[in-house]
Parts: sequence; C-alpha cells; structure tokens
Amino acid sequence: MNRDTNLDKIKSFDSQWDIVIIGGGASGLGIAVDASKRGYKTLLLEKHDFGKGTSSRSTKLIHGGVRYLQNGDISLVIESLRERGILKKNAPHLVRDLSFVIPTYDWWSSPFYGIGLKIYDMMAGSLGLGKSLILSKEETIKLIPNVNKKGLRGGVIYHDGQFDDTRMAISLALTANDQNACLINYCEVINLIKKDNLVTGIKFKDTIKGETFEVKSKVVINATGVFADKIIKMDQPNSKKMIKPSQGVHIVLEKKFLDSPHAIMIPHTTDGRVLFAVPWKNYVVVGTTDTQIKDTLDEPKPLKEEIDFILNNASKYMSIKPFKKDIKSVFTGLRPLASTSNEKSTKEVSRSHKINVSTTGLISILGGKWTTYRKIAEDAVDASIPLGGLRKRKCKTKNLRLHGFKRRVKWDNPFHVYGSKARRLKSYGSSIDNISLSKKFFISNSIIHWSITKEMAITVEDVLARRTRCLFLDSGESIRIAPQVAKKMAEIMEKDNSWIDKELKKFNTLCENYKA
Ligand SMILES: Cc1cc2nc3c(=O)[nH]c(=O)nc-3n(C[C@H](O)[C@H](O)[C@H](O)COP(=O)(O)OP(=O)(O)OC[C@H]3O[C@@H](n4cnc5c(N)ncnc54)[C@H](O)[C@@H]3O)c2cc1C
Repeated sequence: MNRDTNLDKIKSFDSQWDIVIIGGGASGLGIAVDASKRGYKTLLLEKHDFGKGTSSRSTKLIHGGVRYLQNGDISLVIESLRERGILKKNAPHLVRDLSFVIPTYDWWSSPFYGIGLKIYDMMAGSLGLGKSLILSKEETIKLIPNVNKKGLRGGVIYHDGQFDDTRMAISLALTANDQNACLINYCEVINLIKKDNLVTGIKFKDTIKGETFEVKSKVVINATGVFADKIIKMDQPNSKKMIKPSQGVHIVLEKKFLDSPHAIMIPHTTDGRVLFAVPWKNYVVVGTTDTQIKDTLDEPKPLKEEIDFILNNASKYMSIKPFKKDIKSVFTGLRPLASTSNEKSTKEVSRSHKINVSTTGLISILGGKWTTYRKIAEDAVDASIPLGGLRKRKCKTKNLRLHGFKRRVKWDNPFHVYGSKARRLKSYGSSIDNISLSKKFFISNSIIHWSITKEMAITVEDVLARRTRCLFLDSGESIRIAPQVAKKMAEIMEKDNSWIDKELKKFNTLCENYKA
C-alpha cells in the first residue's frame, strides 16, 4: 500500500471507476473492502490519514450496546450483536472478549440489570461471548479490587467485545488493498463533477504535493462522517442538515485506577447515560460524554465540564479516586448521528445508520457505529449497483478474513494487533539499530519503518496516534519520543531537517488537545 504508486495508478487510469469513496474512516474503509471484494474498480480518498476522524476516538468496544436496549432500540442491538460475532470471527487478532462488571449499591439493581442482560444474552444467541451472572459483594470485589466498597451490595457481569479502532482501520485499508482497491490518504475531495444534473465524478487535491485531479466514477459515496453535510452541500447547496454532531470525550488513567482485566460499566450517570472504565493496553480508558455541538472540527476539543463530569461519575465507583492531575491523555470524538430533528437531545438519537441517495445520485452514509461498519458497507454497495448500472454481485464480506488474520494471539503481547505479520515486523528494516524508543509503547525503529513502508504513514502524528496508540494513551510520553520518531522517519523518507522541525512543531501543537 504505497501512496506514490497509488497516485500514479490514478494518473494512468484513463477509464471510469465503478465506485469512488470519499472518507477513510470505518464506513469508507468498510465500503472499500466490500466493493473491491465484489470486483468493482474502487478508489478511496481520505483528506487526512485513515481513521483520523471519529474512527480513532471510540470507546474501543465491539458491542451490541446495552444502553440501546434500555432505549428500546431492539433492531440496532440485534444487528450489532450479529456484526460483533462476524467481526470476531473474521478479525480474531483485533477483537477480543471483555467482561464488564456493573457494581450495584441497592437491593433492586442486581435483579433489574441481571434480567436485562439475560435478554441481551438471548439476543446474541449462538454468537454470544459468555453468560451474564449476578455476583455477590465478595465476587464483585474479587473481580474489581478497586471498586468503591462503601454501600456495595453486589454486581452483575456480562460480556462484550473490545478492539483497537485504528489498527482495525489499517487492517481494513490493507484488506481492500489486497483486493486491488486504490486507497490514498492526504487527498481532499474539493468538489463534485456533474453532468446533466447527475454526479459523475469528483475533483480532489493531494494536500501534500498540492496537485489537483479529476476522476470519473459510476458511483460516488460520501462516507465523511460528521463532514457529510459539507459534501451534500457541494451536491445540493440548499439541502437541509442531515447530521447532528455529538461530542464524546474519554480520559485515560494509569492501570492502578481499575487494576483489573475486567471493565466497569456504570449504568446510570448524572445525565442518565452509561459510562465505561475499560482496561486497554496497560491503561484505563474512561468515558464518554454526549454533548451536542455546532462546530465540526478535525481536532475537536474537550470541554472542562466534560472532563469534570467523567471524573465525578467515575470517582463514585472507584476506591482510588482519579483527579485531573492523574489524566495521561484525553481524546475527543464527534458522533455523526443521523438526525430526524424530533429528538430533544443527542442521547436520544438512534445510533443506527441510514443510506441516503440524492436526486443527483450521490450516496451519503449517515450515522452508524464501528461495530456495524460491515453491514453499513454491504448496504452502501447494494445501493450502488442499480444506481451505477454495475454488474450485480453479492456481498462477500461475511466470511472474509481481514488482513493479518490470526486465530490465537496473546493479548498481553503488544504486537498482537499485527496478527500473522507480527513475526516479520519485529526484525523489519535495519535490525542493527532496532532499539526501542519507548518501553511503555514498544515503539522501535522497525515499527516506524513498517508504518511508513507497509501502512502509508506520512507524518509523526500518523505513527504516534494511529499506527501506534501512544498519543491516545499518554500525551507526555508522545511528546518525549516525538523527536526520535521524527528523526528516524526523516532518515527513511529522505527528508531534511526543516521537515523534522515542521513535523515536531505541528505535533507538539496537536498534543495540547490531548492534555487535560
Ligand atoms: C466518543 C465516541 C465513542 C464511540 N464508541 C464506539 C464504540 O465503542 N463502538 C462502536 O461501535 N462505535 C463507537 N462510536 C461510533 C463510531 O466511532 C463511529 O460511528 C464511526 O467511527 C464513524 O465512522 P465514519 O467512517 O462514518 O466517520 P469518520 O471516522 O469520521 O470518517 C470520515 C472521514 O472522512 C474524511 N473526510 C472528511 N471530509 C473529506 C473530504 N472532503 N475528502 C476526503 N476525506 C474527507 C475525514 O477526515 C474522516 O477521516 C463512538 C463514537 C464516538 C464519538
């Protein structure tokens, strides 16, 4: 998956693409996999890096969504539970079982949540990951030693899935690349091309070299998440807004605040939602919030109230209380919710997806979850077939193993996300100077080399935020090792000192957003 080779492919491609996808998040990458596997000529353009948008900022759960059950969104829960099972089967190196404990502090909570979770188990059927159980006080403390013991009466344990969102995004990009799709990052779609009032292609800019291109396509799919309305406006300037963006913040704490391989699920926050404290890569991710916002930024900023909200709600359930000074990183994402404009608040908006086809033939993906990306892709490609007059071919992703597929991986091995490629990666590039730059994150020269040559990493941010997860877990450690990462990247990519200076300046500015 090489950027220059793929740009050359576009230059020399003098025919029409079957499907052009705008946006390289969960939805766009999933569509690229589905379309290319069906044999359609597929091009995907991402204005930043793959997964830079919402798809790197999730709670890292592949889940049915217990909260949606509370809201009565049964069809979404059933669909998500089915997709959870398919995803675990096709990417066992990236999705694992995780058990969640709901600590309870009154007599009715355990039977109440216990019954709800039995229904959740039944809905998962044969794709279930384990039975939910009511726990005694002692059993709850044994599973979560740092749970707040004051007034604790017991708990309930249930099972869902966990993953690394950007490693999944990269794996999808590589899977699509394996099927001959052409994917390029740092290419922004700046306009749509139309003929006889129908969308027939797009105009895009290579934001690294500044060159602009025009390509023709039978179908154009807008998979730009919270930016979908911008593309829709390029198509129809007077169209009403279809996305209701909602901001979600996570804080990251040291492992000691949970000290357990199990997650805590807080079933009722002060704003009537759920909150998770999830063990992830030797840290604890706690979140999230649901704040309706107006501005859709590439780098959304956490609000002070959101951080306070998470600290206050999580503290009630932890015996070692976290404070602002304990936060190692903060990350903020925007949910691209498909609005029906009837909902009073964003927490009421369904997380299910919609495929919108405009009168000019532009397909837009609205809403959705990481968990359901495969189904979103199937629906989008199915909608493309009659629209673009494509030869009818069935979806083939239900049993498609994702790039790096490996059945048995050790989850405490930091290389597990590379699956079957892990062994080759360890000695990749120059084995002579393969020193570890960060013991906390196992970042070595071979990982940097691999990220650039195999996974299209272009910037220091690509390596530290998405190929590895350093920035999301520990912004301080990221700032510490960034100069060494930039130096090594410059050596491999044959860049000069001014490139290093620019990259570090950009990266250090970015890191401000990830500090509490
Ligand atoms: C706080 C939070 C927690 C979540 N937790 C979970 C979870 O645990 N599990 C789960 O299943 N789901 C979760 N979700 C939902 C899930 O993350 C999103 O539904 C999903 O990532 C959306 O993917 P997307 O591809 O639609 O959007 P994005 O990931 O935002 O991708 C859109 C891409 O389009 C690109 N783009 C925009 N404009 C252009 C242009 N003009 N040209 C080219 N490219 C362009 C952007 O740069 C971006 O990369 C969570 C969401 C949030 C906000």
